[in-house]
Amino acid sequence: MGLIVQKYGGTSVGSAERIRAVAERVLAANRQGHKVVVVVSAMGDTTDTLISLARQVTNDPDEREMDLLLSTGEIISCTLLAMALRSLGQEAVSFTGAQAGIRTDGIHSRARIVAIDPARIIRELKRDRVAIVAGFQGVTDEHDITTLGRGGSDTTAVALAARLDAETCEIYTDVDGVFTADPRLVPEARKLDRISYDEMLELAQQGAKVMHPRAVELGAVHEIPIVVRSSFNDRQGTLICGGEGMEASNKVRGIAHDVDIAKITVIGVPDEPGAAATVFEPLAEAHISVDTIVQNASLDGTTDLSFTVSEGDLAKAVRLVEPVAARVRARGVANATGLAKVSIVGTGIQHAPGYAARMFRALAGEGINIDIITTSEIRITCLVAREHLPAAVGALHRAFELERAEKQAITSS
Ligand code: ASP
Ligand code: MG
Repeated sequence: MGLIVQKYGGTSVGSAERIRAVAERVLAANRQGHKVVVVVSAMGDTTDTLISLARQVTNDPDEREMDLLLSTGEIISCTLLAMALRSLGQEAVSFTGAQAGIRTDGIHSRARIVAIDPARIIRELKRDRVAIVAGFQGVTDEHDITTLGRGGSDTTAVALAARLDAETCEIYTDVDGVFTADPRLVPEARKLDRISYDEMLELAQQGAKVMHPRAVELGAVHEIPIVVRSSFNDRQGTLICGGEGMEASNKVRGIAHDVDIAKITVIGVPDEPGAAATVFEPLAEAHISVDTIVQNASLDGTTDLSFTVSEGDLAKAVRLVEPVAARVRARGVANATGLAKVSIVGTGIQHAPGYAARMFRALAGEGINIDIITTSEIRITCLVAREHLPAAVGALHRAFELERAEKQAITSS
């Protein structure tokens, strides 16, 4: 039996009792003959608490200090889990990201892993010890501690699984797996047994919170089978894997939504080379991530350019865009909040016509106006007013018959 990487999220290690329960689970995998590497998140809301503590000290915390501070959350949980395992008679060693050999670039608060030197972990595994790694962090060549961005422990886990050539990477959380929609909005939502990397990546990027998109991407590139499952029960979970053999499945796999959406429109942009570049360059330099971008073809020599950012970035984005809009001689800049986006995702969409029309009809049936529409090969996304989101998700879930088990959907389509 080979090596597995298990990652436990904040709720799974949220208390001393939970940490002992996780230790039992790790021990069980170890007793089955697996070599086990465990990645942990910070306990419960620790990361949020640390962020608010820093904000109480200063409203402009230094990035380097912030990363070192936040890295402590994961260090607490990994040490406690090692102690819990030892108390069960299982040898275990905890590591910070740096000790585990996780090297990153120097972009604080959203560092990227550039290399992993797994020598020490491998040595410990050979001695039949469980290696426990603090998620969400690494170290630069200058020995500065970095963090990988919120939710980054998923990325740590999948990166380690890839580097160690693990059989699987198990992501333990507080839900049973990946659902056809958020069960809090749609009670009929169904847990998926399997989903392809591409579909999971789209769902995660469009707001499904169950896994971090960067981790899914990494899993796809290295073909690491990922299982998302609950640490609170023994149900089977959802396998995220390659897409073969999935053609016959229901064409819409799931619905994702995101309520953290604000829209900026640059009005009356002259239709000239360089206008869009001028508008977006300062946003890129400020590391503001721009999501949906739409620009219509111009009929009268000018066009409107709309794009979305997270609400937290809105004020800063407007400040950056206003002067450049003036520079390209646009008529003005408008912004809107109170929006949400809802997406249908499925690899089958690309080869079957009619999905867009069915989506728009379902929304129309609820009297919901669509603000912006965007698509990828396997996704259609609509921006709607936030107050309409629950009705939108429910209507789409019904329209695409997602409450039905997969086999029925095949025979009925
Ligand atoms: N503790 C970090 C966060 O809350 C990283 C993680 O949980 O993956 O974002
Ligand atoms: Mg967390």
